[in-house]
Amino acid sequence: MAQIVIRNLKKEFGDFTAVRESSFTIEDGEFFMLLGPSGCGKTTTLRMIAGLELPTSGEILLDGEEISQRPPSERDIAFVFQMFALYPHMNVRKNISYPLVSQGMPRAKVKEKVAEVARILGIEDMLDRPVGGLSGGDRQRVALGRAIVREPKAFMMDEPLGALDAEFREHMAEELRALHDRMGATTVYVTHDQLEAMQMGDKIVVMNNAVVEQFGTPQEIYDKPATMFVADFIGSPPMNFLPFHGAIHPGATEVEMHGGRFGVPAARGAFEGDMAFGVRPEHIRISDDGAFRAEVVAVEYLGTTQIVTLNTAGGEVKARIPAHQVARAGETVGLGFNASTITLFDRQSGRALK
Ligand code: ATP
Repeated sequence: MAQIVIRNLKKEFGDFTAVRESSFTIEDGEFFMLLGPSGCGKTTTLRMIAGLELPTSGEILLDGEEISQRPPSERDIAFVFQMFALYPHMNVRKNISYPLVSQGMPRAKVKEKVAEVARILGIEDMLDRPVGGLSGGDRQRVALGRAIVREPKAFMMDEPLGALDAEFREHMAEELRALHDRMGATTVYVTHDQLEAMQMGDKIVVMNNAVVEQFGTPQEIYDKPATMFVADFIGSPPMNFLPFHGAIHPGATEVEMHGGRFGVPAARGAFEGDMAFGVRPEHIRISDDGAFRAEVVAVEYLGTTQIVTLNTAGGEVKARIPAHQVARAGETVGLGFNASTITLFDRQSGRALK
């Protein structure tokens, strides 16, 4: 069991705030992603959970117990670093058994544990080989073996696949996720790669500038972004924003902008001011009769789909359309949007309107 509750967690380094009052809950057994651009405070958050950094204020509850001031050795949380510090002169078996031997576990028990971990990771045939000669992926497995052999309550991983090349990275990501599903241990994983977060995570926290922008499942974050930052950070190409000035009333199902009326999900509150009409590329239809006129600027063919760049009265947008549909640079087309997929934002605060 390892549920981790983060409550108003804050970290200052002198005058600089690295993490501003963050709150979220990591449920037992979840594969949990901390996602955001470089410098947003992900690593600092992870280090506070592991005990490598003490918070300025706030709480960390591990299965209901406040642990934020405890040293790392009293937390039962394993930290897997980006650069795996294996002992190059030792063989695989010694590298994996090291944490158990140094904690004084009897030899027979160590042997049994190492055999079990090697089986889980599929590295039984490598146990007597020196780690120096192993491939990157095998080293990664050995490093994981060393982390899981202690059977900690939870794993903290800081961009563990960051140093690998793209193809291999994808393969290791799948392996890591499969390993997690077999072991079921709570895992907190830092990444700046939105695709990795979407593919691997049960839940995602999106951070920006020391602040938690949103916390939810990959689908919630993709379909219902809470802020323009999240809508822009997730998805490739990201969500399009058509800026406009206007007003909406509770219950309204249309907005007026750039000379047309466009359907939106029924508004709950009222708002007047600078807004953005947010639409994902795959939710734009291109047809001859669409009311919103646009000029095709460029077409990028991707095999199963194509990305069309269009000039509209509200600025440039990108649409993802089927590969078989014909679109040519220079032609004028009409755009259609599916009302239920639209998100309206308050442009000043950057927050989605509800
Ligand atoms: P990256 O992916 O680049 O590591 P991150 O989101 O993990 O980014 P953090 O490493 O948590 O970001 O750092 C957040 C901010 O806090 C950065 O501006 C960083 O320079 C600053 N910071 C981190 N550790 C310290 C420290 N010990 N002293 C002073 N500033 C720090």
